[in-house]
Amino acid sequence: MNSSPAKIILKPGKERSVLNFHPWIFSGAIKKTEGNPGDGDLTSVFSSDNKYLASGHFNNGSIAVRLFSWEEKKFNIEFWKEKLQKTFALRIQIGLANNPATTAFRLVNAEGDGFPGLIIDCYNNTAVIQAHSPGMYRLLPLFAELLPVISGGLIKNIFDKSRETMPVQGNEQIQNRYLAGSKEGVEIKENGLSFIADWEGGQKTGFFIDQRENRKLVQQYARHKKVLNLFSYTGGFSVYACMGEAQEVHSVDSSAKAVVLAEHNIALNHVKGIHRSFTADAFDFLKEMNNDYDLIILDPPAFAKHLSAVENAARGYQRINAIALKKIKPGGILFTFSCSQAVDKKLFRQVLFAAAAESGRTVRILHQLTQPPDHPVSIYHPEGEYLKGIVLHVA
Ligand code: SAH
Repeated sequence: MNSSPAKIILKPGKERSVLNFHPWIFSGAIKKTEGNPGDGDLTSVFSSDNKYLASGHFNNGSIAVRLFSWEEKKFNIEFWKEKLQKTFALRIQIGLANNPATTAFRLVNAEGDGFPGLIIDCYNNTAVIQAHSPGMYRLLPLFAELLPVISGGLIKNIFDKSRETMPVQGNEQIQNRYLAGSKEGVEIKENGLSFIADWEGGQKTGFFIDQRENRKLVQQYARHKKVLNLFSYTGGFSVYACMGEAQEVHSVDSSAKAVVLAEHNIALNHVKGIHRSFTADAFDFLKEMNNDYDLIILDPPAFAKHLSAVENAARGYQRINAIALKKIKPGGILFTFSCSQAVDKKLFRQVLFAAAAESGRTVRILHQLTQPPDHPVSIYHPEGEYLKGIVLHVA
């Protein structure tokens, strides 16, 4: 590790957000850079009057520094070990990490855990890592050494899946690979139910563990209902609906591979009789379907990956929600989600308001949902609250 960090001096007034523990320094806030930092280099941040503020990793881009410490110290193996120990202790405190009924959980949630640019999800004995910044990517060998230790031996296999999250480094295309162990234990438990986590071939780290608690709520509403799960991916919501004694459950995803995974998970939980999958575009399916679903789940992929795409995303959310609200059976329940970081809670509510108005029906909010506690949000970094869910009753 770099022993003498580069130095960044902020413009006057720009220290404010750093003093409030916001973990990002935008390039526009920088007055002067000393020491010529490259991507991933350790960097100390100073106020315009030369007072130390915080330390982080430099990156050439709009977010120039991602901060991980507000104390000037040695950022050695002991520093990172202590930080990882804290993330593990929190997962124990919230009833995960040693829970045989739920063996998939997020151990490191980027800024929410003080590790900007790093995601670590655990599936049984395997940790799946996605680095989103060169600084964190560089530290992966060190994390691989520490994870078995800080987890008391729970973590044995470590899979680095940063290929899709890391920009190309120079000419080097990053490859996904095991930093320790190999592929084993892909069948995980969530609230006592069984699922396959396909971290090598699946989306993101292999399974959307952030919907764990919201799926349980679907189970509670599903009894004797005809359920439609749109954007079903691994069929998480569908399995819970079946377990909740739904009358019938339909899963729809445009990816044939996802449909195979969902079918597999349905079979694992022995609820095949009431379930059917469709490989189809969700918009087309909604337009063509009958108006006889009592419960609809809409969990689309992030329509907006960047702020610039927000308007289009909002239009997409409005369109799909308006059709669902028009076609759901009277007295029906709509679970609707947005995981776009760029579409905040307020905008999502406005979009649903517009969709409801378009449907002309009486719509009430029953629940407001978010991400579970293993995806904590730093109060100083509200941008970390990415998952928004609303449960609507449609008269
Ligand atoms: N609800 C899922 C996660 C959804 S991820 C869960 O609980 O795990 C989003 C899914 O939407 C992906 O599986 C992707 O294949 C699918 N998808 C993307 N665009 C689609 C479209 N236009 N129609 C149907 N499915 C789509």
